[in-house]
Amino acid sequence: MASFGSIRAAIFDKEEKKQQYQAHILGLNAYDRHKKFLKDYASFYEDERQKQEKLPIKTDQDTLREGYRFIRSEEDDMDTSWEQRLVKRYYDKLFKEYCIADMSHYKTGKIGLRWRTEKEVTSGKGQFVCGNKHCNEQEGLASYEVNFAYFEAGENKQALVKLVACDSCAKKLLYRKLKEKEREERIREKEEEKIREKEEHRKKREREETDEDTAKANDRAKGKVRSSTSTCDDKDDYEDNFDAYMQGMFL
Ligand SMILES: [Zn+2]
Repeated sequence: MASFGSIRAAIFDKEEKKQQYQAHILGLNAYDRHKKFLKDYASFYEDERQKQEKLPIKTDQDTLREGYRFIRSEEDDMDTSWEQRLVKRYYDKLFKEYCIADMSHYKTGKIGLRWRTEKEVTSGKGQFVCGNKHCNEQEGLASYEVNFAYFEAGENKQALVKLVACDSCAKKLLYRKLKEKEREERIREKEEEKIREKEEHRKKREREETDEDTAKANDRAKGKVRSSTSTCDDKDDYEDNFDAYMQGMFL
């Protein structure tokens, strides 16, 4: 029976190994980490792969097993070390994380998507190389989340997956959306222009009305002066007439 000390030492060793591995992989860039994981994966699971390749008769079970490549039994998984589980998780995830796009009909908004083949997963196509199947650009890549509808095991499924695209392919990917946005922008600008024109027209009318009112007020003011003058005139007339009248009286 193992002593407490030896168990503790074993746990300590394991933990130290794990930390060393973690430190090592964290020090790598994404592409080098990818290469390291795939290399480790191959070394950990090579036996399994060979075992599968040697199966003499292909049954439904084998076909299923092929679908879930290098699948391990529960017993095996119980035994796998931390590093093995990590690279396996990484490897399995890769198949359903990134996809490859056929962008030949991008102008109609139709982008065909498919999962990557094993060869593409290993080479990093669609992850470190543009995911458009006809493009090999490795610079200026960005990852886009796309809705992928696919058929698997007799069922229609849907998943949000990543599509890595270079600048020019991203424009193809977003072509319809960009065009739609441009169209909406044009409509919005036109509407704004209409509102601006209406507002200017309203202001112009207001100005004209104000000018008219001012002119009327001026006219009225002038009229008032004239009428007060005429009153004076009237008074003068009256006085003149009165004088004449009085003069007449005494003639
Ligand atoms: Zn591209």
